[in-house]
Amino acid sequence: MSAKPIDGKAFALGLRERVGIAAASFRAKTGRAPGLAVVLVGEDPASQVYVRAKGKATVEAGMESFEHKRDAEITESELLALVNRLNRDEQVDGILVQLPLPPHIDEAAVIAAIDPDKDVDGFHVVNAGRLAVGAEGFVPCTPLGCLMLLKDRLGSLSGLEAVVIGRSNIVGKPMAQLLIRESCTVTVAHSRTRDLPGIVRRADIVVAAVGRPEMVKGDWLKPGATVIDVGINRVAGTDGKTRLVGDVDFASASEVAGAITPVPGGVGPMTIAVLLRNALVAAHLRAGMDAPEGL
Ligand code: NDP
Repeated sequence: MSAKPIDGKAFALGLRERVGIAAASFRAKTGRAPGLAVVLVGEDPASQVYVRAKGKATVEAGMESFEHKRDAEITESELLALVNRLNRDEQVDGILVQLPLPPHIDEAAVIAAIDPDKDVDGFHVVNAGRLAVGAEGFVPCTPLGCLMLLKDRLGSLSGLEAVVIGRSNIVGKPMAQLLIRESCTVTVAHSRTRDLPGIVRRADIVVAAVGRPEMVKGDWLKPGATVIDVGINRVAGTDGKTRLVGDVDFASASEVAGAITPVPGGVGPMTIAVLLRNALVAAHLRAGMDAPEGL
C-alpha cells in the first residue's frame, strides 16, 4: 500500500484564508483589527525565525501584530510586568510568550501570569484544565492542528484506537485529551513505555511527538493507519547539508500507512495557522461576540 500524503500546507493555507476573511469582518463590525502580541526574550535563532514568521502571518491575515523584543538579561519581574501590561491592553486579544525563556526566568510563572482569556498558546493551567474537563478554552496550536488534519481525513474519529507517542504539556498530553474528546480509545506512550512497536501496531491513528528522528518504522504500523508526524528534527544529509525529518521513518511508513503527514509540509504549517485562529477567537470572545463558525 502507498499512503496518501496529508497536505498540511494546503490545509493551513485554507485556514489562514478563512481567518483573514473573519478578521476583516471583525474589523468591519468593531472598528479595530484583532491583535496578537508576541514576546521574544533573547537571541535564540530558532525563536527569532518563529517570531518573524508569526508576525508576518498575523499581518497577512489582516490582524495587528505587536512584537515585544527584550534582551536576555531582562529580569523575571520586568517580564511579568510586561505580561501584565499586555493583559490590560485593550488592543491585545492574544499574548504569546515565545519559549524557551532564559534559564534565570521561571517559564511556568510567566505562563501563569498571562490572562487565560488571552492565552492563545493554550499553555496556561486554566486552559489545560478546561481541556481536561471538556470545557471551552484555548487548546495548544500544534495538537489542535493535528486534530483538524485527522478530522479532515477521517471524518468521525469515534471508537478509533489512537496512540500518542510523547506526553509533553504542549503536544502529547493535549493531543490525548483532544482524542478522548473525539471518543477515541487513547494510549499515551513515552520513554518508559514497554514494547512501543506492539502498542503502535494496535492503532488506527498514530501521533508521533517524540523528537527522535525517524524512530517509528513502517513495520510498527497497522496497515491503513493514519499517521501524524509532529517531529521536526534536523539531521545530516548525504550531500553534506542538513535536512528536516520527522519522528516517523516516512519511506517505510508510507508503504504501510493509509495516510501520513510529510515533514516538512505536514503538521508544521498548521501551528501558525491555528495560532491565528485562536487569536481571532480570542478577539471575538473579548468583544462579546460568538466565535466564528467553520474555523
Ligand atoms: P518533549 O521533548 O517535550 O517530549 C518528548 C516526549 O517524547 C516525552 O514525553 C518523552 O517521554 C517521549 N520520548 C522520548 N524518547 C522516547 C522514546 N524512545 N520512546 C517513546 N517516547 C519517547 O518534546 P515536544 O513534545 O515539545 O516535541 C516533540 C517533537 O515535536 C519534537 O521533534 C519537536 O521539535 C516537535 N514539535 C513540532 C511542532 C510543530 O509545529 N510541528 C511544535 C512542537 C513540537 P518522557 O516524558 O518519558 O521523557
